[in-house]
Amino acid sequence: MTESMGDHDVADNLALIRQAIARAEADCDRPPGGAALIAVSKTVEAVRIEDALKAGQRLFGENYVQESQAKWPELRERWPDVELHLIGPLQSNKAGEAIALFDVIHSLDRPSLAKALAKAVQRAGRQPALLCQVNTGREPQKGGIDPDALPGFLEECRTSFGLAISGLMCIPPFDEPPSPHFAWLASLAADHGLALLSMGMSADFEAAIQLGATHVRVGSAIFGSRPQPAAA
Ligand SMILES: *Cc1c(COP(=O)(O)O)cnc(C)c1O
Repeated sequence: MTESMGDHDVADNLALIRQAIARAEADCDRPPGGAALIAVSKTVEAVRIEDALKAGQRLFGENYVQESQAKWPELRERWPDVELHLIGPLQSNKAGEAIALFDVIHSLDRPSLAKALAKAVQRAGRQPALLCQVNTGREPQKGGIDPDALPGFLEECRTSFGLAISGLMCIPPFDEPPSPHFAWLASLAADHGLALLSMGMSADFEAAIQLGATHVRVGSAIFGSRPQPAAA
């Protein structure tokens, strides 16, 4: 899917993805619009992001704070209703910059980061929506909290740091069927009364929607393939 779609332009790709999302929602009797499309624009230049903006796309995902600071302030002046999501790993020393720039942060995964974010929230007087990333595949090289540690971590975010958590995010292992990971994340979110579920990428967003994704993160199927190496 990714390769064939790379040949189309961004507006055509977006239209195809929106159709596929609507079909996936209908297939599992979910109301239309329940799964929001985040266009992942890491490494994509501003001119191509503008193609997506002109085609009506408003939710965007980025992986790197610095790259986002370089691209987005100017774009946002012209498209003030953009909603910017940080989906990549976040260093604690970038917490302040992330809080200032992003509307949603998907990669909260450790107490030291929760502490830094809480401090930044207080200083800025602004709290983006926060999602905890869960390492459902227990991959050592990947970000995300261990599923066993999630309940304690959610409690700590609330009681020690005063942070409201809105949902969960996962990135299944590259070499495994993703659906069991999506199902697990959905059940963890339900256990903890969390409304938002960020799961599904270009290759598997339909499966994620079937399992309850409220946000799918689609990059290469919209903007074409990225220069390697892709971020983990
Ligand atoms: C890059 C990235 C995506 C988008 O991946 P595609 O396969 O290009 O759709 C989604 N989520 C995260 C966390 C990413 O880093």
